[in-house]
Amino acid sequence: MPLPRPTERPPTGHTTSTAERGSFCLALCTCGWRGPARRSRDLARKDADRHPST
Ligand SMILES: [Zn+2]
Repeated sequence: MPLPRPTERPPTGHTTSTAERGSFCLALCTCGWRGPARRSRDLARKDADRHPST
């Protein structure tokens, strides 16, 4: 099977981050979750904070 990113999924936990999409920002997690597109990184960060982090 193709494995373009072998380290994309750590075996444990949820690690959130934010990513920019043009003029928007959204929260991402290593589990595959992603938050809605926000107009500011601060809002995206809050979305990430609401997602399980352990
Ligand atoms: Zn997660």
